[in-house]
Amino acid sequence: MPTDDLDRLNAQAAKLLTAHAHRFTTARQHIVAALHEADSPLTILQLLDAGEGLVQSTTYRNLVVLEDAGVVTRVITPDDHARYELDEHLTHHHHHLICNDCGDVKDFELSDNLENKLDGELQEAGRTAGFRIERHSLDLFGTCKSCS
Ligand SMILES: [Zn+2]
Ligand SMILES: [Zn+2]
Repeated sequence: MPTDDLDRLNAQAAKLLTAHAHRFTTARQHIVAALHEADSPLTILQLLDAGEGLVQSTTYRNLVVLEDAGVVTRVITPDDHARYELDEHLTHHHHHLICNDCGDVKDFELSDNLENKLDGELQEAGRTAGFRIERHSLDLFGTCKSCS
């Protein structure tokens, strides 16, 4: 990933944290950098492994703060391991493939064509229900390649 991308990310993260009265500490910067490097959501253990100088005790707390500020999102999975990624507002719109057996999570993108079709249908369904839809989030559950 190009560095200017990380610079942009850091600037956005700093702004969000400031707006929520939090500081963008070095540990929080290392969490953002590690999630930026990863190509799918990370468990805490994977994050501790990937991040520079991260310790378990403070990483939990920092993730809560980053989630509160909207920098990080927790991906809901069927297993007990919470997984974290940078919020879609800071990265790009995507979906997840979540394995019911091993809990593995992969980022997954739909074609623009399918996204447009989906949004069209959802807008229509929303209108019928008297609801104005702003965005969608859609995770797919099933069996991954190594489990099937
Ligand atoms: Zn993701
Ligand atoms: Zn979508």
